Amino acid sequence: MPCMSFDKLKTIEPAYHPSAKLGVLIDWLVTLKCNYDCSYCDIGERGHDNSKPHPKYEKCVAMLKHLYAYTDVVMMSKKERLKDAILNMYGGEAVFHPEFVKLAEATTREFEKYKGRWRMRRRLTTNGTATEKNWKKIVSHMEGVTMSYHTQGPQKLKNLFLANLQHLVDIKKEFDVVVLMYPHPDYWQECLDFARWCNENNLRSRPRLLDGGIGAYNETQIQELAEFFSSDELDSVRPGEKLTVSKMRACCGGRPLCTNREFKSPQMLVPRGPEGYKGWTCAANQFFIFGNTTTGMYYTNKDCRVRLDGKLGPIANIDTMDSYTEKLRQQIIDTGTVPVLTCGQTHCHCGTCAPKARTPEALAQIMKVYNTVS
Ligand code: SF4
Ligand code: SF4
Repeated sequence: MPCMSFDKLKTIEPAYHPSAKLGVLIDWLVTLKCNYDCSYCDIGERGHDNSKPHPKYEKCVAMLKHLYAYTDVVMMSKKERLKDAILNMYGGEAVFHPEFVKLAEATTREFEKYKGRWRMRRRLTTNGTATEKNWKKIVSHMEGVTMSYHTQGPQKLKNLFLANLQHLVDIKKEFDVVVLMYPHPDYWQECLDFARWCNENNLRSRPRLLDGGIGAYNETQIQELAEFFSSDELDSVRPGEKLTVSKMRACCGGRPLCTNREFKSPQMLVPRGPEGYKGWTCAANQFFIFGNTTTGMYYTNKDCRVRLDGKLGPIANIDTMDSYTEKLRQQIIDTGTVPVLTCGQTHCHCGTCAPKARTPEALAQIMKVYNTVS
């Protein structure tokens, strides 16, 4: 397995295995409101914000249409076998939006016109606390669900979580459970018990460590975590210390990556420089799109703020997204090329798996795997 320094790194791309196929990830932040108020949750786009109203239904549908239209343009250049998209719906808490049942229906209705052109799988990330009646309707429009278990929730909502989880099992819907491992002494045992219960019941689940100040685990807790994590994964967890940012970076989707076009040696962690991949050429714009319905803004992805002009910020807003997408469509038709980004950001999280290279020429070689046009 190659383990190289950042200086020797020239390219990063996903490993070429059917299970790790890199399609287009559409991230749709539906609302920032949440019916929980977990103490480890950031206030804002990375967590929840109950001071912000739910976006109106019409605004949500307008953004959904924009996200589909952008994806349709990006798909124009892709090879047929790679025309796959995932629509990830989340919040705050998406199902807490009072019209989420109608929004789930809209994801089906609005996709009709694209159906023969590309494939889509919808995934809902949720704390799983919709009413049972709404839940049944919602998940009938999803291909998969990620259920996050939060020990700080009230028992009444935890009971709903369990009933909704059972429904997914009953209807054989694809799902996974994420158990947030909150180290607070009042909640730790329940985290362990729930993670074990998932394992004992053969539910696809994974415990998640919390970062930030609240995610400091003591010696005993680290020993208990060894039941769920490999020694490599726990390597950077030090008793009483916040989780550290490593000089290595994994794909957040757990996708194996290849460096320097060495396809026989995929790896889970790749080196990154002190300034991330700043100055590299990157195709993240061809694999991601992120819409934040609360602000009405679109970005390359949840973490990547790089735009086609090399500056950082939103690529468009709800009023300009139509013309942004149309301009891109014309550019691809007129030039036969798809634009790529010059990275101007000093950190790269979600987006690590996007094909990237130190030079535009090296990235162009990689993109021949994905695109019919250059
Ligand atoms: S359920 Fe999720 S979004 Fe809501 S407060 Fe907890 S961590 Fe934040
Ligand atoms: S921050 Fe964005 S442009 Fe830079 S390497 Fe990561 S995904 Fe690519």
